[in-house]
Amino acid sequence: MTRHLITSAIPYINGVKHLGNLIGSQLPADLFARYQRARGNEVLFLCATDEHGTPAELAAAKAGKPVAEYCAELHAIQAKIANGFRLSFDHFGRSSSPQNQKLTQYFAGKLADANLIREVQETQMYSPTDGRYLPDRYIEGTCPNCGFEDARGDQCDECTKQLDPADLINPRSTISGATDLERRLTKHLYLRQSQMRDQLQTWIDGKTDWPLLTVSIAKKWLNDGDGLQDRGITRDLNWGIPVRKGEDPWPGMEDKVFYVWFDAPIEYIACAQEWQDAGKGSDWQRWWRTDKGAQDVTYTQFMGKDNVPFHTLSFPATILGSGAAWKLVDYIKSFNYLNYDGGQFSTSRGRGVFMDQALEILPADYWRWWLLSHAPESSDAEFTWENFQASVNKDLADVLGNFVSRVTKFCRSKFGEAVPEGGSLGPEEKQLIADLTARLRMYEDLMERMEVRKSAAELRAIWVAGNEYLQNAAPWATFKTDPEKAAAQIRLALNLIRFYAVLSSPFIPDASATLMTAMQSSDDRWPDGEN
Ligand SMILES: [Zn+2]
Repeated sequence: MTRHLITSAIPYINGVKHLGNLIGSQLPADLFARYQRARGNEVLFLCATDEHGTPAELAAAKAGKPVAEYCAELHAIQAKIANGFRLSFDHFGRSSSPQNQKLTQYFAGKLADANLIREVQETQMYSPTDGRYLPDRYIEGTCPNCGFEDARGDQCDECTKQLDPADLINPRSTISGATDLERRLTKHLYLRQSQMRDQLQTWIDGKTDWPLLTVSIAKKWLNDGDGLQDRGITRDLNWGIPVRKGEDPWPGMEDKVFYVWFDAPIEYIACAQEWQDAGKGSDWQRWWRTDKGAQDVTYTQFMGKDNVPFHTLSFPATILGSGAAWKLVDYIKSFNYLNYDGGQFSTSRGRGVFMDQALEILPADYWRWWLLSHAPESSDAEFTWENFQASVNKDLADVLGNFVSRVTKFCRSKFGEAVPEGGSLGPEEKQLIADLTARLRMYEDLMERMEVRKSAAELRAIWVAGNEYLQNAAPWATFKTDPEKAAAQIRLALNLIRFYAVLSSPFIPDASATLMTAMQSSDDRWPDGEN
């Protein structure tokens, strides 16, 4: 038995996610977790909502609610939808949890002790009308380069020039429209990632089994230009984790919080603690501390490609820099983007299919099957309604559904509700078993390597093999001349239904459970190759 710690990138709190988000991390992580459990391995599968930062504050203000209340409500909504998609998290935590607050402050203290944090004085735009500092993207004004009137504080969308808010002519707050913005001097903490470049480079160089996509993104950030840059880890906001040095106050940082990107990945760890505190497990450090039992854990992270830099550099810098025996990621599975009908999925523009809408239209298994069998692995993929309908009809109805339906109907009409006895397996049956055994080994190998699309294709081929056998063996014809042989054929076919249910359960858990119930079987053990 092996031990697998599995995390999915944590979805941001401000609204229901779309199908592109689902297939970019949570769903393939669930596939892998379900597969490892089915193989009898020990799994801890964690996900959470990412709750801090300005977008959450603004979304709460728009909803007319206190931000903590807003986050609690949205967390409950996301948890319910995740359950609807049968995402089998051992715990779905919250980055705003007390556990994460304490752990984030602990890491900051450790990094400070290691001289990996420096204090920086900088000017930032303050809006007296809004009573707050404004992040770059909440300031707009006229572009000094091209004269575009709605240029953002960080970049002009018209001429693409990178900007500093101080460059803008007639800057204004996008929250209130206020124009009485002031430049104020404020102090922030920076993580000295530049000091850790060699250590990170060595660590990444050791990951010879990582996909090219992951490694090339990480190396670009490590080496391009002046190399890995120090990074601000604090913000002038109210909503977030208060800046402390471990359990001690941090002089001069009293009104500041940690930047959301600093505390969000630490929630992967805190979530295990939440899992234990919720009474779902024990000894969470056995999963996360290599000095407390986690030395035999394989840790796999799932995420979209845009999250790779933070997971290959920033979060490892936090862990390595702490100097403590925290578990580092062993394998990162990253995904390209799923597009929607000729364009991009977009939460802000409401474009695409959202997770709540999807479940109102069709059962979870339909979406799971299509998304996983079309996962954007080697390149971007595209969702179209035509392809979704055709693919689901063909694979689930015409192949798997048709096999089950023909076998069970024929059995009932000729042999009743019991598994027929008598007869023995002929050469066709033995050939089928040999073929399926070979395909099963291939399927296991692909699932182990997280080749999602290829795994789906192999599973489908396993279903097809059963259909072709049934077509050729034609027990309905055999029955007229040799009922014993037909009984053996149907017995094999009934066993195949259980075999399919077990193999398919990581992809389509509800359909698999239905098949197991129909077979009146509770034996969900993974086949050993002898069917
Ligand atoms: Zn411009």
